[in-house]
Amino acid sequence: MRIERHLAGLFPEEINGILADSVPAFRARQIFGWLHHHAAASFHEMANLPKELRRRLEDLFGQPWPLNLVTKRVAGDGTEKYLFALDSGGTIETVLLPEEKRQTVCISTQVGCAMNCSFCATGKSGFQRDLTAGEITAQVLFVQNRLQGEGKQLTNVVYMGMGEPLANYEAVLRSVRLLNHPQGLNLGARRITISTCGLAPRIRQLAEEDLQVNLAVSLHAATDQARSAIMPINKAYSLNELLAACDYYTAKTNRRISYEYALISEFNDAPEQAERLGELLRGRLCHVNLIPVNPVDQEVRPSPQRIAAFARVLERAGVPVSIRKERGTDIEAACGQLRRRSLEGQDVAEHGGQV
Ligand code: SF4
Repeated sequence: MRIERHLAGLFPEEINGILADSVPAFRARQIFGWLHHHAAASFHEMANLPKELRRRLEDLFGQPWPLNLVTKRVAGDGTEKYLFALDSGGTIETVLLPEEKRQTVCISTQVGCAMNCSFCATGKSGFQRDLTAGEITAQVLFVQNRLQGEGKQLTNVVYMGMGEPLANYEAVLRSVRLLNHPQGLNLGARRITISTCGLAPRIRQLAEEDLQVNLAVSLHAATDQARSAIMPINKAYSLNELLAACDYYTAKTNRRISYEYALISEFNDAPEQAERLGELLRGRLCHVNLIPVNPVDQEVRPSPQRIAAFARVLERAGVPVSIRKERGTDIEAACGQLRRRSLEGQDVAEHGGQV
């Protein structure tokens, strides 16, 4: 097991383990509460801690969150996208999707990604490293801090940013349990969604965790041949293996699985592919999200009519389906786009500053 080195990734008893020589146990619970319940951005805010302890925390951990804001962009529809530089190196993206009744944050789990899906800007930038649980959790705390300034509360967390969450399994699970913690944000597991490009063995492992998190599976094609052409992971775990693992997840958790399907013109958007997808998913406890592709290189988005026709075929097959509303297209809200620009040196520090 890896040792978590960021304060935001530690449970109260672990904080206590670090400080036990000098402070009573209740101080560790207070620190955890400041971080995860109040989303405090600085040790200075932790008013009921002795000054000496706050100084010690600063010496040990530097700052509560290991993130530094590089760029913030706000789209016309209210979507906010953040590019963070990490204390331990690398940059990641986090997105806030505000709605009237829901405040959803989309978080990253790795710096880059090794999965190399052909339509994804993050995949094209390569893989650097896994995030720690503290780096994952801190993205949520940053957004919660930002929302509470407006008297709002974060309601949902989706692990759909940069990286393959199930390839960083241990840190992702730790972060889920931190978000779930009754003395912290206390976010119900049913408000948390983990996405995957299809790591079948990890889906089975997740099914055993006694967690009620939602699972979103990136399908994007209805045949092995087409899926392998855009998602190399399909060569390791075929559609059959993937769907069997998803069935196992449903059987264990009774949770409905979301299948994500990015529609790419002239590639996977024909009525025959919709028929095939309907055959694959018919009778399964699931929902299909159709996503008009956000062009990264050569991909072209199908027309709204073609997307609607695809959805109708699925409906006729009895598969629940919705067409995802586009968010933040004017700020490159799709996974990895802003970071890719930044790496190419086109767009850094527009609204720079330390968090
Ligand atoms: S789509 Fe997801 S899994 Fe695929 S390369 Fe991009 S970040 Fe990785």
